[in-house]
Amino acid sequence: MKIILLGPPGAGKGTQAKQISTKYNIPHISTGDIFRKNISEKTELGVKAQSYIDKGLLVPDELTIDIIKDRLDNEDCKNGFLLDGFPRTVKQAEALELFLNQKGDKIDYVLLVKVPESSILERMTGRRVCLKCGASYHIKFNPPKVLGKCDACNSDIIQRKDDSEETVKERIDVYNKQTEPLIEYYDDKKIMHSVDGTQDIEVVFKSISDILGDN
Ligand code: ADP
Ligand code: AMP
Repeated sequence: MKIILLGPPGAGKGTQAKQISTKYNIPHISTGDIFRKNISEKTELGVKAQSYIDKGLLVPDELTIDIIKDRLDNEDCKNGFLLDGFPRTVKQAEALELFLNQKGDKIDYVLLVKVPESSILERMTGRRVCLKCGASYHIKFNPPKVLGKCDACNSDIIQRKDDSEETVKERIDVYNKQTEPLIEYYDDKKIMHSVDGTQDIEVVFKSISDILGDN
């Protein structure tokens, strides 16, 4: 199963991705996680990406597309994958489509997680993440069992620098201008399903499972 999770920052894509990846046994591929890993390891890519991420801007397509192509060529993607945070521009979507077409492949589902702009700021400024495994928590809506520690791997959880109020506002603006056009792009291809992301985490997951089925 080849799936794209689409939706504004803070919609709950990463939260749902962890559960989908486990249930359907497909790798969860988050471009944001890949960039953050490179930033923490101070790689050349990380240094380049950080200047954009810190400002709430998108990392240029040329960098992002190559990273995803490399990742999708890995053996673990043979039977499917779950993309979270990619594509974010029409150019990225077209490049992905071409890349998959050349292998006789295609995306099966695009899941659009819908959350109104009014909820996004509270969700993102209250978000805490595990730098080691990428798990996402919320101080009010989804707190970890032990304060400051990841439930999954017991590492420290932190607030992302780009989750400050000012940067979140920029990211929402970037989403509206650069990523929202993807809704029409995938709607035209008749592979998009909308999910109400304002429901409780488990209810959102149930809606997604109903769309993807039990296989
Ligand atoms: P995204 O990956 O789309 O940016 P996350 O999955 O990191 O979003 O979720 C953003 C924040 O909202 C996190 O703090 C997360 O714990 C919280 N969250 C996710 N889903 C829900 C939900 N259904 N209800 C309330 N809070 C949620
Ligand atoms: P995320 O973890 O998905 O919220 O992404 C964090 C940041 O990484 C974004 O605000 C962008 O700066 C960058 N990023 C992640 N995915 C992409 C992408 N597909 N294209 C461009 N920039 C991206």
